[in-house]
Amino acid sequence: MRKAKILVTLGPSSSSKEMMIRLIENGANAFRFNFSHGTYEQHRELYRTARKAAREKGWQAPLIQDLQGPKIRVSLPGPVRLEDGDTVFLTADEAEAGNSTIFVSYPPLCEDVGAEEPVLLNDGKIVLRVTDKNSKKVKCRVLVGGLLEDKKGMNLPCTKTTLSPLSEKDLADLHFGMEMGFDYVALSFVQSGEDIRLLKSEMDKLGRRIPVIAKLERPLAVENLENIIDETDAVMVARGDLGIEIPVEQIPVIQKKIIAAANRRGIPVITATQMLESMMETTTPTRAETTDIANAIYDGTDVVMLSGETSTGKYPAEAVHMMRSIIREAEPFTDAYTKFSSSFSDDMQGKEITTAHLAAAATGDIGIRAIVVYTQTGRTANLISKLRPHTDIFAFCPHAEVVRRMGLLWGITPIPFPVYEYTEGLIEGLNDELLKRGYVQIGDLVAITYGSPIPAKNQSNMLKIHRME
Ligand code: PEP
Repeated sequence: MRKAKILVTLGPSSSSKEMMIRLIENGANAFRFNFSHGTYEQHRELYRTARKAAREKGWQAPLIQDLQGPKIRVSLPGPVRLEDGDTVFLTADEAEAGNSTIFVSYPPLCEDVGAEEPVLLNDGKIVLRVTDKNSKKVKCRVLVGGLLEDKKGMNLPCTKTTLSPLSEKDLADLHFGMEMGFDYVALSFVQSGEDIRLLKSEMDKLGRRIPVIAKLERPLAVENLENIIDETDAVMVARGDLGIEIPVEQIPVIQKKIIAAANRRGIPVITATQMLESMMETTTPTRAETTDIANAIYDGTDVVMLSGETSTGKYPAEAVHMMRSIIREAEPFTDAYTKFSSSFSDDMQGKEITTAHLAAAATGDIGIRAIVVYTQTGRTANLISKLRPHTDIFAFCPHAEVVRRMGLLWGITPIPFPVYEYTEGLIEGLNDELLKRGYVQIGDLVAITYGSPIPAKNQSNMLKIHRME
């Protein structure tokens, strides 16, 4: 079975149930809803269609809400051409906007930016440098000019921005997403662990907590990596905006550092953006793209993501199929995984961690055919997944939401399963379900983990080597 998972972004190219079913059949393991675009009506429709497609295919997988975060945009009556060497002004005060003064959606602009700091416009294609400022305007020199259009994005890579990590729009979107029932929420432009704590407290106000994915796309996020990882449930290497805010040549090393840090702390990591960019337009990827996906897997990523390829591209189904084929070719080269076998940082201790280590280790020793996890929260399944055992991992769980979330975890096959009170009944039930599904044969050895006594919902503290009967 394939181990690394594929996260697919939905959009106009993938909004029909028929297309979603093709994406699922071709290997999609989760769907992302990008709240930088679209109306609530469109997201509601997309969400319902995705749930319908999942039901039809018996697809146990999460739907992920991706919040825009504090994205800054310019506002212009019409396109303007900025020439190299020009002087332009930026303002957050609408009354000041006009000839050669550009309005930006960033109220603390004049307080936050400092002299000589860069200002990037239109995905970094236009580069300005701050030369002066007063309380109303920031004066800039154009270093690299270009055509600037209304609503284009602005990045301040060297500025510690004081904008709230959750805009009014994000709060409204979160409220909507919680009501709809998303399984994860991703936050863009995270700067510190404090941003994640704020998002979690907002969820608490709404009466529902779901796991958070921190999108790492600012230089400050890279600086505060450990502190963010302490607070978040998963991270994403969001290479799109990261490549605007940090020189693109630094991305490969930063990707490796983020993945390694997430693996040490046992949290899932997603590698995102431009993985099959050329398949937006053509049916075959570049050689560099196929190699990028394989290398992300060898870096230790749990998930690889498709964005434009599946949301607005011409060949969404083909892109997912290609990604799966690349993963399938890459994974048998298992030497690349041996480095993960004892990868957790020393301060990660607990019964469930020891149990996970023992289960993963057992697969190497005595010919264990599969690891079987009976989990309440998905935590043990996640830990075992991060240890990268070579065998299949079947995670049984009585809670539908947890089952769906586990769909994103490397190597995990999530299986809905009833509540059991006693160990004897549980082992028998797992045995029968595995045989019924054809995942293992009579006589195979499996390693089963669970928390005992079961009704106490303890963290995993048992490992049973079981011969299938
Ligand atoms: C990115 O910037 O790489 C990313 C994943 O974010 P978005 O697609 O929301 O821009």
